[in-house]
Amino acid sequence: MSDTSRQLPTELIHHSYKPPAGFEGVSPAVHKASTIIFPSVAALRERDWKHKTGYTYGLHGTPTTFTLEERIATLEGGKYCTLLPSGLAAVVLVGMALLKAGDEVLIPDNAYGPNKSFAQGELAAWGISHRLYDPMNPLDLAAKLSARTRLVWLEAPGSITLEFPDLPQLVAAVKAHTDCHAEGIVTALDNTWGAGIAFNAFELGADISVQALTKYPSGGADVLMGSVVTNSEALHLLLHFCHMRVGFGVAGNDAELVLRGLNSMALRYAAQDQSTRALAFWLQSQPQIDRVLHPALAGSPGHESFKRDCHAAACLLSVVFKPEFSQQQVDHFCDSLTLFKLGYSWAGPMSLCVPYDMPALRSTPWPYKGGLVRFSVGLEALPDLQADMLQALAAMQYSKG
Ligand SMILES: *Cc1c(COP(=O)(O)O)cnc(C)c1O
Repeated sequence: MSDTSRQLPTELIHHSYKPPAGFEGVSPAVHKASTIIFPSVAALRERDWKHKTGYTYGLHGTPTTFTLEERIATLEGGKYCTLLPSGLAAVVLVGMALLKAGDEVLIPDNAYGPNKSFAQGELAAWGISHRLYDPMNPLDLAAKLSARTRLVWLEAPGSITLEFPDLPQLVAAVKAHTDCHAEGIVTALDNTWGAGIAFNAFELGADISVQALTKYPSGGADVLMGSVVTNSEALHLLLHFCHMRVGFGVAGNDAELVLRGLNSMALRYAAQDQSTRALAFWLQSQPQIDRVLHPALAGSPGHESFKRDCHAAACLLSVVFKPEFSQQQVDHFCDSLTLFKLGYSWAGPMSLCVPYDMPALRSTPWPYKGGLVRFSVGLEALPDLQADMLQALAAMQYSKG
């Protein structure tokens, strides 16, 4: 429930949702419970957690988690939100809630790796098949849709390589097929990069938007959480009942950390976007670098879709080194960085980097020979980050290959 006359940074702080209680601080209270006490048997029988009109058991929601769910729904421009203990658990919930033996799920080849691993592991074991499609080619997606397709994953931009797909075209391919499909096909977007700020997932046609709240909404690199948001009550109930049956609850203290993070999220997103673009443009002119991967760079795959659909970009960029630099030298570059720490995840205060072995991560041939490093740009001062990259490039240049 949001006041649409106000902008998102305001709405994330002055949210209209109030849990049913008489206490008000600036920060919502942290409620922790497994047991919630009922005043009578009649009350116990009547309580309804599904519509957030009451509380039954900690796993089904507390004032703290209901508040966070409402704010994440507002952030995404959606109606219904379910919280999960990690972003990956949110991805998994969508698969578990929608797929049954005999169904097929389509996943972009450049999707977040563990989404594909879940399909290769548990989904395959449960008799649910998956196919990878080229997200930069809607015709490839259209050709892979079948009577067995029940779920199509979208991700914008691709994980690590940051190609920006034409989401409306991909959705149109699915909708065209859905008309002659018995059960309908659901599109689910992994919206961790856009985070509800770069674009509205539902306006671009997604049925479900999933986020790792671990990234921007938390912003602290100190909590794991995920969300699944939709505008469809029917889909929400499918997801929410599955959520109840599998017991993927979140803790009150963790919800509090994400609620705190939301207050500064829009400012952090803008600041990190600015630093990331500055570094991406500057890196293009560094002699050791073959290619900088960032959707705002002219000529990057999907740049036109990015310009059409996005108001902002997240804090990720990747570089491909020139092929004359060995993997050992690329590793030396990463080890030489002092402010960019080696570590997974992104959108926290501290800048991070990870070298990736791209040919091992893609089903189609990877076009570059040089090593790839992905950066998450944090909240440090830009000149310090640039100086750190510059000294590490020099250290690599003069290291032995
Ligand atoms: C990090 C991430 C996830 C998973 O989030 P966790 O909270 O780490 O499980 C899912 N999708 C994308 C795109 C991510 O970057």
